[in-house]
Amino acid sequence: MHPPQFTAEPPSTDPVETDSTVSGRPSSSTSGTDSASPAYDVIIAGCGPTGAMLAAELRLHDVRVLVLEKETEPPSAARIVGLHIRSLELMAMRGLLERILPHGRQRPASAFFAAIPKPAPKGLDSRYAYLLGVRQPVIERLLEQHATELGAQVRRGRAVAGFEQDDEGVTVELADGERLRSRYLVGCDGGRSTVRKLLGVGFPGEAARTESLMGEMEVGVPQEEIAVKVAEIRETHQRFWLRPVGVGVYSVLVPAAGISDRAEPPTLEDFKRQLRAIAGTDFGVHSPRWLSRFGDAMRLADRYRVGRVLLAGDAAHIHPPIGGQGLNLGVQDAFNLGWKLAARIRGWAPETLLDTYQAERRPVAEEVLDNTRAQTELLSTEPGPQAVRRLLIELMDFDEVNLHLLEKITAIGIRYDFGAGPDLVGRRLRDIDVKQGHLYGLLHQGRGLLLDRTERLTVGGWSDRVDHLADPTAELDVPCVLLRPDGHVAWIGDDQQDLDEHLSRWFGEPAH
Ligand SMILES: Cc1cc2nc3c(=O)[nH]c(=O)nc-3n(C[C@H](O)[C@H](O)[C@H](O)COP(=O)(O)OP(=O)(O)OC[C@H]3O[C@@H](n4cnc5c(N)ncnc54)[C@H](O)[C@@H]3O)c2cc1C
Repeated sequence: MHPPQFTAEPPSTDPVETDSTVSGRPSSSTSGTDSASPAYDVIIAGCGPTGAMLAAELRLHDVRVLVLEKETEPPSAARIVGLHIRSLELMAMRGLLERILPHGRQRPASAFFAAIPKPAPKGLDSRYAYLLGVRQPVIERLLEQHATELGAQVRRGRAVAGFEQDDEGVTVELADGERLRSRYLVGCDGGRSTVRKLLGVGFPGEAARTESLMGEMEVGVPQEEIAVKVAEIRETHQRFWLRPVGVGVYSVLVPAAGISDRAEPPTLEDFKRQLRAIAGTDFGVHSPRWLSRFGDAMRLADRYRVGRVLLAGDAAHIHPPIGGQGLNLGVQDAFNLGWKLAARIRGWAPETLLDTYQAERRPVAEEVLDNTRAQTELLSTEPGPQAVRRLLIELMDFDEVNLHLLEKITAIGIRYDFGAGPDLVGRRLRDIDVKQGHLYGLLHQGRGLLLDRTERLTVGGWSDRVDHLADPTAELDVPCVLLRPDGHVAWIGDDQQDLDEHLSRWFGEPAH
């Protein structure tokens, strides 16, 4: 095995960008630091889960990363999100899963699709076949910690307000007027992304039709009384719950009175009014821990990259939380982008590698928006959608249907289009047994891996970026597999020349 970094050379030889003349709308005239060589390789706007994950992935390759976060403090809206199978696999691949597991609750991998209560399907092909319910701020804190331990700088209370890009880099302007120079800028700044807006990238889709209020608060009536009332209302309202989340503290979800354009949180009075309107009682709610609102808008960015500026996470796609896919999608965007952007900066990326980020990830988001649309329809109380829901409930008794839907939501069914080839090419490889333990344990440094049962192939001049494990006992039913740093299968075969072509395709020219 090889040391963690791709090369020892300084990150200086950035290949010419194909479309680097396309600029984000200039914020102001260039001066000061603009003409100097960039202090950073990548500036990331936003330290949510996507930004933190991306920072960590870039640091694995010694990329100089600065994360600018608008908020001075980490978020307090402690909604519980679910980490789905593929995200758990990514965490395992970087040695993070053990850190996250104690903070969450493992639940069966079931009842995700439109909240239809079916057991987990048989044949789930993963070592991590469960859902981990965990508070979003915990995920954000652990990912930020991971990134900073690896050497990323995070500056809080620093909002990106503008930027301009040229052939060599991007000048980023902060809200306080400070200007910073980097080679790339990635907008991980959420659904209302400043970076996306300044970039002029379209964000078409559907405006919100409904809005929900969500928060945590104490209640003034006994638990049994709440349970009866909630069960009664949930027969007709899926967007309604009061669930205990701690001693005397409830998570409350209730439809809002209408659509608001405001970013600021609702008030306790808003909750009381809506609870009374729907349940006939406000359950004596008081002492809120946090209050928030969210809508069901669905939008997808037209482009994920314009020259040296890229988008990831909610900045590139938004959709309602049904199925719990948003955070997972963003973290997986970061995982896909990190090694490619690092390769670009380290100077070995094949010409089109960075473009594969949009080519691979935008269709995945498109698909998530689509399944979310379908799930939203299935939650409608109208007779038509209710009939379709009943039919789907029947169909999900077929294990294949249940499995198909679960693979969609958990993202383990994704197959990137790498061209013609065996079905496994383009898919992720599960965490199989190898002679040194588990496969994912070999991927902590974010390098490529040749898993070789023939013991006669070599990674030759790519050994500075691709590891080679000769293991005739590996739990594979093919001779050899070339894995990208994100764990997707880039090649299957047993021919050295064919392998070399694929190494070039994904890992550039050999070093020697
Ligand atoms: C009620 C609810 C439940 C959900 N449940 C789930 C679930 O179970 N599973 C799941 O996967 N997803 C879930 N989601 C979705 C998930 O919360 C989001 O998809 C996720 O937070 C997106 O992460 P992100 O890092 O892309 O963006 P964000 O989390 O929005 O982070 C963006 C960051 O950028 C910062 N920022 C904004 N503008 C600037 C600027 N100009 N300069 C610098 N920083 C800036 C923000 O302060 C923020 O910290 C849920 C969402 C809601 C509303």
